[in-house]
Amino acid sequence: MHIDLDAIERNCATIRAATGPLVELCAVVKADAYGHGAPAVAHAALAGGASRLAVATVDEAEELRNAGVTAPVLLLGPLTSDEIPRALRARVEVVAWRAEFLETVLGLRSVSAEPLAIHVKLDVGMGRLGVREADALEALARQIVATPALRLAGAMTHLPCADEDPERSRAQVRAFRTFGARLKSFAPDVVLHAANSAATLSLHESRLDMVRCGVALYGLDPFGRDPAHHGLRPALELCSYVAALKPIAPGESVGYGGQFVAAEPGWIATIPIGYGDGWRRAFSGRTDVLIAGCRYPIVGRVSMDSLTVDVGPGTPRIAEGDKAVLLGADGDERISAEELARRVDTINYEITTALSRRPTRNYH
Ligand code: PLP
Repeated sequence: MHIDLDAIERNCATIRAATGPLVELCAVVKADAYGHGAPAVAHAALAGGASRLAVATVDEAEELRNAGVTAPVLLLGPLTSDEIPRALRARVEVVAWRAEFLETVLGLRSVSAEPLAIHVKLDVGMGRLGVREADALEALARQIVATPALRLAGAMTHLPCADEDPERSRAQVRAFRTFGARLKSFAPDVVLHAANSAATLSLHESRLDMVRCGVALYGLDPFGRDPAHHGLRPALELCSYVAALKPIAPGESVGYGGQFVAAEPGWIATIPIGYGDGWRRAFSGRTDVLIAGCRYPIVGRVSMDSLTVDVGPGTPRIAEGDKAVLLGADGDERISAEELARRVDTINYEITTALSRRPTRNYH
């Protein structure tokens, strides 16, 4: 994997230029920065103008702290009571929506520590974490303000249809803004945030005090189209090489289950990457690989450590040792995460996040 940290830095700067200097950027680096590697991405995002980072789990927060990240880290996910002491030690900002959570935190927190920064979460339609009742959440926010050991740092919501339904998202933003105005009347410094990448790029009124962008940082398009449309540059390339090139005769098969059977004499190249690397089995027969600037289809089943491509009949124009590009550009050809996602009926997020720890991450 080649990860272009300059692209990540520039994508952050592009987002900040679009939102203006008054809107803070929180870089979402959960799930190992969507497969790109969280510590390196975190440093690049901060250099590009992000002022906060967001993760989903305590392990992810600790990984950032162990990598020397000192910027504020917002932990978006829920916390068990076992995880709360670790979250406090990692000095993260946490999300709350219930009074019981505050009681548990106060029971565990040492008196001398800094006040714990809390973001309250309103559910405007996602139906997962947070509460739908604005009155109850305002009461919780007031309780936080009245407790010296706690600090009301923010109020958030998460929009479920920002990439699909602007009208519905606008109504949800309106509901959240009304709630936010109530909080600002007694906590003027509270940071209001709702927008993910899709909302940040397409729904200006959702930007509020801070945007939380994930996919756009990586130069991926939240709408599944061409990221260049928003001035974003993909940061990730995945390359392997031709480990074996051999002829195949009509009637001979390739791979588990022998599903691909050659109809004519041809050549098969074996590329040493498979679902153990996160290159999904669903790609079998549905996607291509670039070798020497040309597209060749994956044939046979993708296995754990390798996949095979049909190089066609005649003298091969490729050789063993040639570079094979699975994601990225070679000459005039490019295979994007958006294209791969379309071919297997998923989203670009899942393509990069699925990459396992096995492919080496090279940063430049
Ligand atoms: N905010 C929350 C609460 C999220 O869960 C996520 C990611 O799923 C994001 C922001 C970032 O979303 P995106 O990658 O679409 O920008």
